[in-house]
Amino acid sequence: MKVDFYGHVRQYNNIKSEIDANINTVIQSGQYVLGPMLKKFEGEFATYSGTKYAIGLGNGTDAIWLALMAYGIGAGDECITNANTFFATAEAIWIAGATAVLIDCDPKTKCIDPAKIEAAITPKTKAIIPVHLYGQCADMKAIRAIADKHKLIVIEDNAQAIGAAGNGFKIGELSDATATSFIIQKNLGTFGDGGALITNNANVDTTVRKLRNHGSNARNVHSFGFNSRLDDLHAGVVSAKLKHIDKWNDNRRKLAARYTAGLKGAKHFTLPYEVPGSRHVYHLYVVETVVASKRDAFVKFLNDNQIDAKTHYSIAIHQQAGYPWGKNARTVGTLTNAEYNAAACVSLPMFPELREDEVDAVIAKCLEWDKAQG
Ligand SMILES: *Cc1c(COP(=O)(O)O)cnc(C)c1O
Repeated sequence: MKVDFYGHVRQYNNIKSEIDANINTVIQSGQYVLGPMLKKFEGEFATYSGTKYAIGLGNGTDAIWLALMAYGIGAGDECITNANTFFATAEAIWIAGATAVLIDCDPKTKCIDPAKIEAAITPKTKAIIPVHLYGQCADMKAIRAIADKHKLIVIEDNAQAIGAAGNGFKIGELSDATATSFIIQKNLGTFGDGGALITNNANVDTTVRKLRNHGSNARNVHSFGFNSRLDDLHAGVVSAKLKHIDKWNDNRRKLAARYTAGLKGAKHFTLPYEVPGSRHVYHLYVVETVVASKRDAFVKFLNDNQIDAKTHYSIAIHQQAGYPWGKNARTVGTLTNAEYNAAACVSLPMFPELREDEVDAVIAKCLEWDKAQG
């Protein structure tokens, strides 16, 4: 059986009338940039997030970068994040002009290891940027405590975990601002790019609203800024989808539980870890080969059998030849867990519209490969 990695078209067809209605509303309104649909969605997204403000932006990378700018973080400053993340986390720090300080992840959650943060703090450190990788929350309670002790800003990179929750905390609750991405493959996605920043800080809200719109909050009056706006058509798309996100995430969790039950006997790869008491929303369902060097063969076996497995992310940030090194980034301590994750990770198909028989077909092929390894 052929099993795809994404179900974008299935999702659209399931709620076609709701999305089409919003798109039509925007087109008929005649207002497509900073219009009423964006305003409506920003209100809905702030309510959903439980924060005072939500600002629609061009993409998730800009959301991180503009948050850093709003807190005055730039040249000469350092931001601590984990080395195993999507490139954009480090890229946003670089765009802001700051230095990315890359540390290791927790071997179980794959999120930043709070125990390794303090060793990376210097007088130049201004922010910690935890990533809720694969849909699971980083340990925000520990991170907030460290940030408070050292007077640091915390910006959550929540591109992958909309609708997730930690054990006893909500996303957006323990940070200074939270960035998210609405690129199509994220749990809440447009038909292209998009992003948002949520915060309870009124100054950050005002500043980012100006920065995204050429430094302007009144007609013809400008300070320096950029162009990074979530357009109204895409605001309409995510507005329609927001009504379904909790149910879709529930489906992801059900499918993940099915994978985990079906794969638990495997000897040659390990299964994702879920923090007790938390809500992991399985943006990705990632297994790791016990022997990292067997990973590529495992992925090839699945791909040869029409199962679209991928890797997220097979090159950690500090291993990227293309990252602007020199003063723009450094590592602290060993990055063994991040490097193992890069070498051994395998993402199995995961999206809310994935059918149980498709999950079972993936499980069967994974177990076939596992058995062949002895
Ligand atoms: C997708 C993603 C981003 C960037 O989002 P864009 O909308 O593509 O700019 C940032 N961080 C992480 C962890 C991501 O997965």
